[in-house]
Amino acid sequence: MRIAIAGGGLGGLTLARILHLHGIGAVVYEREASRSARSQGGSLDLHPESGQQALADAGLAGRFRSAARPEGEEHRILDPAGRVLVHHRPQPGSFSGRPEIDRSVLRDLLLDSLPGDTVVWRHRLVAAAPRPGGGFGLTFDGGHSADCDVLIGADGARSVVRSLLTDAPLSCVATLVELSIGDADRRHPDLAELVGPGNLWCIGERRILAAQRLSDGSIRVGISLPANDLSANELPPNDRPVDDRLDAYRSKRALLERFDGWDPGLTALIEAGDGPPVPRRIEAMPTGTRWAHRPGVTLIGDAAHLMPPVGEGANQAMLDAAELAAALAAQPADPGAAIRAYEEAMFARIHPIAEMSARVQAMMLSPTAADDIVRFFTPRPAEPAAAD
Ligand SMILES: Cc1cc2nc3c(=O)[nH]c(=O)nc-3n(C[C@H](O)[C@H](O)[C@H](O)COP(=O)(O)OP(=O)(O)OC[C@H]3O[C@@H](n4cnc5c(N)ncnc54)[C@H](O)[C@@H]3O)c2cc1C
Repeated sequence: MRIAIAGGGLGGLTLARILHLHGIGAVVYEREASRSARSQGGSLDLHPESGQQALADAGLAGRFRSAARPEGEEHRILDPAGRVLVHHRPQPGSFSGRPEIDRSVLRDLLLDSLPGDTVVWRHRLVAAAPRPGGGFGLTFDGGHSADCDVLIGADGARSVVRSLLTDAPLSCVATLVELSIGDADRRHPDLAELVGPGNLWCIGERRILAAQRLSDGSIRVGISLPANDLSANELPPNDRPVDDRLDAYRSKRALLERFDGWDPGLTALIEAGDGPPVPRRIEAMPTGTRWAHRPGVTLIGDAAHLMPPVGEGANQAMLDAAELAAALAAQPADPGAAIRAYEEAMFARIHPIAEMSARVQAMMLSPTAADDIVRFFTPRPAEPAAAD
Protein backbone atom coordinates (compact mmCIF):
# COMPACT_ATOMS: atom_id res chain seq x y z
CA MET A 1 0.00 0.00 0.00
CA ARG A 2 1.58 3.30 -1.09
CA ILE A 3 0.43 6.13 1.18
CA ALA A 4 0.99 9.72 0.12
CA ILE A 5 0.53 12.52 2.65
CA ALA A 6 0.15 15.98 1.13
CA GLY A 7 1.61 18.52 3.59
CA GLY A 8 4.36 18.23 6.19
CA GLY A 9 2.82 20.32 8.97
CA LEU A 10 2.07 19.07 12.46
CA GLY A 11 -0.74 16.76 11.29
CA GLY A 12 1.07 15.21 8.32
CA LEU A 13 4.32 14.62 10.22
CA THR A 14 2.56 13.10 13.25
CA LEU A 15 0.72 10.74 10.91
CA ALA A 16 3.92 9.69 9.11
CA ARG A 17 5.67 9.11 12.44
CA ILE A 18 2.97 6.89 13.96
CA LEU A 19 2.57 4.92 10.72
CA HIS A 20 6.35 4.42 10.73
CA LEU A 21 6.17 3.03 14.30
CA HIS A 22 3.61 0.49 12.99
CA GLY A 23 5.93 -0.47 10.12
CA ILE A 24 3.78 1.31 7.50
CA GLY A 25 5.72 3.52 5.10
CA ALA A 26 4.38 6.84 3.79
CA VAL A 27 5.77 9.68 1.68
CA VAL A 28 5.12 13.26 2.79
CA TYR A 29 5.04 15.79 -0.06
CA GLU A 30 5.74 19.28 1.31
CA ARG A 31 5.66 22.50 -0.73
CA GLU A 32 8.33 24.29 1.31
CA ALA A 33 11.95 23.99 0.17
CA SER A 34 13.35 22.81 3.53
CA ARG A 35 12.52 22.66 7.24
CA SER A 36 13.92 26.17 7.72
CA ALA A 37 12.45 27.78 4.58
CA ARG A 38 9.75 29.67 6.48
CA SER A 39 9.26 30.88 10.04
CA GLN A 40 6.75 28.52 11.65
CA GLY A 41 5.09 31.21 13.81
CA GLY A 42 4.47 31.35 17.55
CA SER A 43 4.05 28.79 20.26
CA LEU A 44 1.23 26.31 21.00
CA ASP A 45 -0.16 24.81 24.15
CA LEU A 46 -0.62 21.06 23.76
CA HIS A 47 -3.56 19.53 25.59
CA PRO A 48 -3.19 16.23 27.48
CA GLU A 49 -6.16 14.56 25.76
CA SER A 50 -5.23 15.52 22.17
CA GLY A 51 -1.82 16.96 21.18
CA GLN A 52 0.05 15.34 24.08
CA GLN A 53 -1.80 12.04 23.56
CA ALA A 54 -0.75 12.02 19.89
CA LEU A 55 2.88 12.64 20.87
CA ALA A 56 2.68 9.75 23.35
CA ASP A 57 1.33 7.52 20.52
CA ALA A 58 4.27 8.76 18.45
CA GLY A 59 6.71 7.66 21.17
CA LEU A 60 7.80 11.27 21.64
CA ALA A 61 6.37 12.17 25.07
CA GLY A 62 9.84 12.26 26.69
CA ARG A 63 11.31 14.49 23.99
CA PHE A 64 8.27 16.74 24.22
CA ARG A 65 8.80 17.17 27.97
CA SER A 66 12.43 18.13 27.41
CA ALA A 67 11.48 20.75 24.83
CA ALA A 68 8.23 22.17 26.26
CA ARG A 69 7.86 25.10 28.65
CA PRO A 70 5.29 24.48 31.41
CA GLU A 71 5.95 28.02 32.69
CA GLY A 72 4.70 29.29 29.30
CA GLU A 73 1.20 28.40 30.47
CA GLU A 74 1.21 31.56 32.62
CA HIS A 75 -1.10 34.16 31.13
CA ARG A 76 -2.57 37.52 31.94
CA ILE A 77 -5.57 39.37 30.59
CA LEU A 78 -5.54 43.17 30.78
CA ASP A 79 -8.00 45.87 29.81
CA PRO A 80 -6.97 48.74 27.49
CA ALA A 81 -5.92 50.83 30.52
CA GLY A 82 -3.48 48.10 31.54
CA ARG A 83 -5.51 46.85 34.55
CA VAL A 84 -5.10 43.13 35.23
CA LEU A 85 -8.40 41.28 34.83
CA VAL A 86 -7.10 37.71 35.08
CA HIS A 87 -3.69 36.32 36.04
CA HIS A 88 -3.20 32.56 35.74
CA ARG A 89 -0.02 30.97 37.13
CA PRO A 90 0.56 27.24 36.50
CA GLN A 91 2.05 24.88 39.11
CA PRO A 92 5.85 25.23 38.73
CA GLY A 93 7.27 22.47 36.47
CA SER A 94 3.86 20.84 35.98
CA PHE A 95 3.08 18.99 32.74
CA SER A 96 -0.45 18.13 33.84
CA GLY A 97 -1.86 21.28 32.21
CA ARG A 98 -1.14 22.65 28.78
CA PRO A 99 2.59 23.38 28.44
CA GLU A 100 3.71 25.62 25.59
CA ILE A 101 6.10 24.57 22.86
CA ASP A 102 7.39 26.63 19.94
CA ARG A 103 5.92 25.41 16.66
CA SER A 104 9.35 25.20 15.05
CA VAL A 105 10.68 23.09 17.95
CA LEU A 106 7.70 20.73 17.73
CA ARG A 107 8.00 20.40 13.96
CA ASP A 108 11.76 19.68 14.25
CA LEU A 109 11.05 17.06 16.92
CA LEU A 110 8.68 15.27 14.52
CA LEU A 111 11.00 15.65 11.50
CA ASP A 112 13.95 14.25 13.46
CA SER A 113 11.90 11.17 14.37
CA LEU A 114 11.31 10.16 10.73
CA PRO A 115 13.56 8.26 8.30
CA GLY A 116 15.50 10.81 6.25
CA ASP A 117 13.70 10.14 2.97
CA THR A 118 10.12 10.42 4.32
CA VAL A 119 9.64 14.11 3.49
CA VAL A 120 10.02 15.17 -0.12
CA TRP A 121 10.55 18.93 0.00
CA ARG A 122 9.75 21.45 -2.72
CA HIS A 123 6.72 19.40 -3.89
CA ARG A 124 3.60 21.56 -3.98
CA LEU A 125 0.63 19.42 -4.95
CA VAL A 126 -1.40 21.15 -7.64
CA ALA A 127 -3.76 18.33 -8.70
CA ALA A 128 -4.83 14.83 -7.70
CA ALA A 129 -6.78 12.71 -10.19
CA PRO A 130 -8.30 9.26 -9.62
CA ARG A 131 -6.63 6.46 -11.61
CA PRO A 132 -8.86 3.94 -13.43
CA GLY A 133 -7.61 1.00 -11.31
CA GLY A 134 -7.88 2.85 -7.98
CA GLY A 135 -5.59 5.27 -6.16
CA PHE A 136 -4.58 8.71 -7.36
CA GLY A 137 -2.14 10.32 -9.75
CA LEU A 138 -0.49 13.37 -8.19
CA THR A 139 0.87 16.37 -10.07
CA PHE A 140 3.24 18.83 -8.44
CA ASP A 141 4.23 22.37 -9.25
CA GLY A 142 7.21 22.24 -11.64
CA GLY A 143 6.00 19.13 -13.47
CA HIS A 144 6.89 16.25 -11.09
CA SER A 145 4.31 13.50 -10.74
CA ALA A 146 3.72 10.45 -8.54
CA ASP A 147 1.12 7.74 -7.88
CA CYS A 148 -0.34 6.46 -4.64
CA ASP A 149 -2.96 3.97 -3.42
CA VAL A 150 -4.08 6.12 -0.48
CA LEU A 151 -3.96 9.95 -0.44
CA ILE A 152 -4.20 11.87 2.81
CA GLY A 153 -4.70 15.62 2.63
CA ALA A 154 -2.78 17.26 5.47
CA ASP A 155 -2.23 20.35 3.36
CA GLY A 156 -3.73 22.93 5.68
CA ALA A 157 -6.21 25.77 5.36
CA ARG A 158 -6.19 26.05 1.54
CA SER A 159 -6.02 22.29 0.96
CA VAL A 160 -5.87 21.05 -2.62
CA VAL A 161 -6.94 17.51 -1.62
CA ARG A 162 -10.10 18.86 0.06
CA SER A 163 -11.73 19.52 -3.33
CA LEU A 164 -11.86 15.73 -3.97
CA LEU A 165 -14.25 15.39 -1.02
CA THR A 166 -16.13 18.61 -0.34
CA ASP A 167 -16.74 22.04 -1.80
CA ALA A 168 -17.34 23.59 1.66
CA PRO A 169 -16.56 27.31 1.30
CA LEU A 170 -14.13 29.23 3.53
CA SER A 171 -15.34 32.37 5.25
CA CYS A 172 -13.18 35.11 6.70
CA VAL A 173 -13.69 35.30 10.48
CA ALA A 174 -11.04 37.85 11.50
CA THR A 175 -7.94 39.74 10.45
CA LEU A 176 -4.70 38.89 12.26
CA VAL A 177 -1.74 41.26 12.13
CA GLU A 178 1.62 39.96 13.37
CA LEU A 179 4.88 41.56 14.49
CA SER A 180 8.01 40.18 16.12
CA ILE A 181 10.32 41.72 18.71
CA GLY A 182 13.73 39.99 18.78
CA ASP A 183 16.06 39.77 21.81
CA ALA A 184 13.37 41.29 24.01
CA ASP A 185 15.10 40.91 27.41
CA ARG A 186 18.03 43.05 26.32
CA ARG A 187 16.36 45.48 23.90
CA HIS A 188 12.95 45.90 25.56
CA PRO A 189 13.13 44.66 29.17
CA ASP A 190 9.93 46.53 30.09
CA LEU A 191 8.00 44.70 27.36
CA ALA A 192 9.59 41.36 28.32
CA GLU A 193 8.36 41.90 31.86
CA LEU A 194 4.89 42.95 30.67
CA VAL A 195 4.49 39.77 28.59
CA GLY A 196 6.04 37.43 31.19
CA PRO A 197 6.99 33.80 30.44
CA GLY A 198 3.74 32.92 28.62
CA ASN A 199 0.90 34.83 27.03
CA LEU A 200 -0.59 38.30 27.43
CA TRP A 201 -3.98 39.33 26.06
CA CYS A 202 -5.11 42.96 26.16
CA ILE A 203 -8.81 42.99 25.36
CA GLY A 204 -10.69 46.02 24.13
CA GLU A 205 -13.88 46.60 22.22
CA ARG A 206 -13.70 44.42 19.10
CA ARG A 207 -9.90 44.26 19.21
CA ILE A 208 -7.23 42.22 20.96
CA LEU A 209 -3.55 43.01 21.33
CA ALA A 210 -1.83 39.76 22.28
CA ALA A 211 1.80 38.86 22.85
CA GLN A 212 3.62 35.64 23.63
CA ARG A 213 7.10 34.72 24.68
CA LEU A 214 9.06 32.29 22.46
CA SER A 215 11.97 30.14 23.60
CA ASP A 216 14.51 32.10 21.52
CA GLY A 217 13.87 35.19 23.69
CA SER A 218 11.69 36.95 21.12
CA ILE A 219 8.14 38.19 21.61
CA ARG A 220 5.48 37.50 18.99
CA VAL A 221 2.76 40.11 18.85
CA GLY A 222 -0.63 39.30 17.31
CA ILE A 223 -3.44 41.79 16.78
CA SER A 224 -6.92 40.39 16.13
CA LEU A 225 -9.55 42.57 14.52
CA PRO A 226 -12.99 41.77 13.11
CA ALA A 227 -13.01 40.84 9.43
CA ASN A 228 -15.16 43.94 8.75
CA ASP A 229 -13.12 46.44 10.79
CA LEU A 230 -12.40 48.88 7.96
CA SER A 231 -14.56 51.96 7.49
CA ALA A 232 -16.04 52.70 4.04
CA ASN A 233 -13.34 55.24 3.15
CA GLU A 234 -10.55 52.78 4.05
CA LEU A 235 -11.87 50.03 1.77
CA PRO A 236 -10.21 49.57 -1.62
CA PRO A 237 -12.45 49.87 -4.72
CA ASN A 238 -14.74 46.89 -5.28
CA ASP A 239 -12.87 45.73 -8.38
CA ARG A 240 -9.66 45.12 -6.38
CA PRO A 241 -8.85 41.62 -5.01
CA VAL A 242 -10.22 41.00 -1.52
CA ASP A 243 -6.68 40.59 -0.07
CA ASP A 244 -6.00 44.26 -0.95
CA ARG A 245 -8.06 45.09 2.14
CA LEU A 246 -5.07 43.94 4.17
CA ASP A 247 -3.03 46.91 2.86
CA ALA A 248 -4.70 49.10 5.49
CA TYR A 249 -2.81 47.19 8.20
CA ARG A 250 0.68 47.21 6.73
CA SER A 251 1.96 50.30 8.56
CA LYS A 252 2.54 50.64 12.30
CA ARG A 253 1.08 54.14 12.24
CA ALA A 254 -2.21 52.95 10.74
CA LEU A 255 -2.32 50.10 13.21
CA LEU A 256 -1.65 52.36 16.20
CA GLU A 257 -4.61 54.54 15.15
CA ARG A 258 -6.85 51.51 15.76
CA PHE A 259 -5.67 51.51 19.40
CA ASP A 260 -6.33 55.19 20.08
CA GLY A 261 -6.87 55.78 23.82
CA TRP A 262 -5.07 52.60 24.93
CA ASP A 263 -2.32 52.73 27.55
CA PRO A 264 0.95 53.61 25.73
CA GLY A 265 2.69 50.89 27.78
CA LEU A 266 0.58 48.36 25.86
CA THR A 267 0.74 49.89 22.38
CA ALA A 268 4.56 50.00 22.82
CA LEU A 269 4.30 46.34 21.75
CA ILE A 270 3.32 47.57 18.27
CA GLU A 271 5.94 50.32 18.15
CA ALA A 272 8.72 47.92 19.14
CA GLY A 273 8.01 45.46 16.28
CA ASP A 274 11.17 44.76 14.28
CA GLY A 275 9.64 45.14 10.82
CA PRO A 276 6.40 46.28 9.26
CA PRO A 277 3.21 44.55 10.47
CA VAL A 278 2.24 41.42 8.54
CA PRO A 279 -1.56 41.08 8.13
CA ARG A 280 -3.49 37.99 7.05
CA ARG A 281 -7.05 36.81 6.79
CA ILE A 282 -8.20 34.16 9.27
CA GLU A 283 -10.64 31.77 7.65
CA ALA A 284 -12.87 28.93 8.77
CA MET A 285 -14.95 26.14 7.22
CA PRO A 286 -18.65 25.86 8.10
CA THR A 287 -19.23 24.11 11.43
CA GLY A 288 -20.38 20.53 10.90
CA THR A 289 -18.69 20.04 7.52
CA ARG A 290 -18.58 16.38 6.57
CA TRP A 291 -18.38 14.45 3.31
CA ALA A 292 -19.48 11.16 1.80
CA HIS A 293 -16.75 8.54 2.11
CA ARG A 294 -14.67 8.12 -1.04
CA PRO A 295 -12.26 5.16 -1.31
CA GLY A 296 -8.55 5.89 -1.00
CA VAL A 297 -8.66 9.49 0.16
CA THR A 298 -9.26 11.45 3.35
CA LEU A 299 -8.29 14.65 5.19
CA ILE A 300 -6.77 15.53 8.55
CA GLY A 301 -6.22 18.80 10.44
CA ASP A 302 -7.04 22.17 8.91
CA ALA A 303 -7.72 20.50 5.56
CA ALA A 304 -10.59 18.61 7.22
CA HIS A 305 -11.93 21.17 9.68
CA LEU A 306 -10.40 24.66 9.53
CA MET A 307 -11.61 26.45 12.69
CA PRO A 308 -11.08 29.89 14.24
CA PRO A 309 -7.71 29.81 16.04
CA VAL A 310 -8.68 29.56 19.71
CA GLY A 311 -6.23 26.85 20.74
CA GLU A 312 -7.62 23.63 19.25
CA GLY A 313 -6.49 23.40 15.58
CA ALA A 314 -3.02 21.92 16.03
CA ASN A 315 -4.14 19.73 18.92
CA GLN A 316 -6.97 18.25 16.83
CA ALA A 317 -4.77 17.89 13.73
CA MET A 318 -2.35 15.76 15.76
CA LEU A 319 -5.16 13.71 17.28
CA ASP A 320 -6.64 13.15 13.78
CA ALA A 321 -3.22 11.86 12.74
CA ALA A 322 -2.98 9.50 15.73
CA GLU A 323 -6.51 8.14 15.20
CA LEU A 324 -6.10 7.67 11.44
CA ALA A 325 -2.73 5.95 11.92
CA ALA A 326 -4.23 3.60 14.53
CA ALA A 327 -7.15 2.77 12.21
CA LEU A 328 -4.84 2.04 9.26
CA ALA A 329 -2.56 -0.08 11.46
CA ALA A 330 -5.55 -2.06 12.77
CA GLN A 331 -6.84 -2.86 9.25
CA PRO A 332 -3.82 -2.74 6.91
CA ALA A 333 -5.55 -4.95 4.34
CA ASP A 334 -8.65 -2.75 4.20
CA PRO A 335 -7.69 0.94 4.14
CA GLY A 336 -11.20 1.87 2.97
CA ALA A 337 -12.76 0.51 6.16
CA ALA A 338 -10.02 2.15 8.25
CA ILE A 339 -10.64 5.55 6.64
CA ARG A 340 -14.41 5.21 7.07
CA ALA A 341 -14.01 4.42 10.79
CA TYR A 342 -11.59 7.34 11.25
CA GLU A 343 -13.90 9.79 9.46
CA GLU A 344 -17.02 8.89 11.46
CA ALA A 345 -15.17 9.28 14.79
CA MET A 346 -13.45 12.50 13.64
CA PHE A 347 -16.70 14.15 12.46
CA ALA A 348 -18.34 13.40 15.84
CA ARG A 349 -15.33 14.64 17.84
CA ILE A 350 -14.81 17.84 15.83
CA HIS A 351 -18.39 19.10 15.64
CA PRO A 352 -18.67 20.38 19.25
CA ILE A 353 -15.09 21.68 19.18
CA ALA A 354 -15.75 23.66 16.00
CA GLU A 355 -18.95 25.07 17.53
CA MET A 356 -17.07 26.09 20.69
CA SER A 357 -14.25 27.66 18.62
CA ALA A 358 -16.74 29.75 16.62
CA ARG A 359 -18.46 30.88 19.85
CA VAL A 360 -15.18 31.84 21.56
CA GLN A 361 -13.96 33.65 18.45
CA ALA A 362 -17.19 35.70 18.31
CA MET A 363 -16.92 36.41 22.05
CA MET A 364 -13.28 37.56 21.78
CA LEU A 365 -14.11 40.20 19.18
CA SER A 366 -17.45 41.34 20.63
CA PRO A 367 -18.01 44.79 22.20
CA THR A 368 -18.32 43.10 25.64
CA ALA A 369 -15.33 40.79 25.25
CA ALA A 370 -13.50 41.79 28.44
CA ASP A 371 -16.55 41.14 30.69
CA ASP A 372 -17.37 37.90 28.88
CA ILE A 373 -13.82 36.61 29.19
CA VAL A 374 -13.49 37.47 32.89
CA ARG A 375 -16.77 35.58 33.47
CA PHE A 376 -15.38 32.68 31.44
CA PHE A 377 -12.26 32.49 33.67
CA THR A 378 -13.96 33.17 37.02
CA PRO A 379 -15.03 30.00 38.88
CA ARG A 380 -18.74 30.01 39.70
CA PRO A 381 -19.69 29.82 43.41
CA ALA A 382 -20.85 26.33 44.38
CA GLU A 383 -24.61 25.78 43.97
CA PRO A 384 -26.39 25.58 47.37
CA ALA A 385 -27.32 21.98 48.21
CA ALA A 386 -30.93 21.18 47.31
CA ALA A 387 -33.27 20.87 50.33
CA ASP A 388 -34.59 17.37 50.97
C1 LIG B 1 -2.56 32.78 14.74
C2 LIG B 1 -2.86 31.34 14.98
C3 LIG B 1 -2.67 30.82 16.24
C4 LIG B 1 -2.96 29.49 16.49
N1 LIG B 1 -2.77 29.01 17.75
C5 LIG B 1 -3.05 27.72 18.00
C6 LIG B 1 -2.87 27.18 19.31
O1 LIG B 1 -2.44 27.86 20.24
N2 LIG B 1 -3.19 25.89 19.52
C7 LIG B 1 -3.65 25.08 18.51
O2 LIG B 1 -3.93 23.90 18.76
N3 LIG B 1 -3.82 25.57 17.27
C8 LIG B 1 -3.54 26.84 16.98
N4 LIG B 1 -3.71 27.33 15.72
C9 LIG B 1 -4.21 26.45 14.66
C10 LIG B 1 -3.06 25.60 14.08
O3 LIG B 1 -2.03 26.43 13.63
C11 LIG B 1 -3.54 24.73 12.93
O4 LIG B 1 -4.80 24.20 13.21
C12 LIG B 1 -2.54 23.61 12.68
O5 LIG B 1 -1.30 24.13 12.28
C13 LIG B 1 -3.09 22.65 11.64
O6 LIG B 1 -2.12 21.68 11.34
P1 LIG B 1 -2.12 21.01 9.89
O7 LIG B 1 -0.98 20.05 9.90
O8 LIG B 1 -3.48 20.55 9.56
O9 LIG B 1 -1.84 22.21 8.89
P2 LIG B 1 -0.57 23.16 8.77
O10 LIG B 1 0.13 23.29 10.06
O11 LIG B 1 -1.05 24.39 8.09
O12 LIG B 1 0.39 22.36 7.78
C14 LIG B 1 0.06 22.23 6.42
C15 LIG B 1 1.37 21.92 5.68
O13 LIG B 1 1.04 21.62 4.33
C16 LIG B 1 1.90 22.33 3.46
N5 LIG B 1 1.14 22.53 2.23
C17 LIG B 1 0.09 23.38 2.03
N6 LIG B 1 -0.40 23.24 0.78
C18 LIG B 1 0.36 22.30 0.19
C19 LIG B 1 0.35 21.70 -1.12
N7 LIG B 1 -0.54 22.09 -2.04
N8 LIG B 1 1.28 20.74 -1.40
C20 LIG B 1 2.18 20.35 -0.45
N9 LIG B 1 2.26 20.89 0.78
C21 LIG B 1 1.34 21.83 1.11
C22 LIG B 1 2.24 23.61 4.21
O14 LIG B 1 3.43 24.18 3.76
C23 LIG B 1 2.34 23.09 5.65
O15 LIG B 1 3.64 22.63 5.96
C24 LIG B 1 -3.44 28.66 15.45
C25 LIG B 1 -3.60 29.19 14.16
C26 LIG B 1 -3.33 30.52 13.93
C27 LIG B 1 -3.56 31.08 12.55
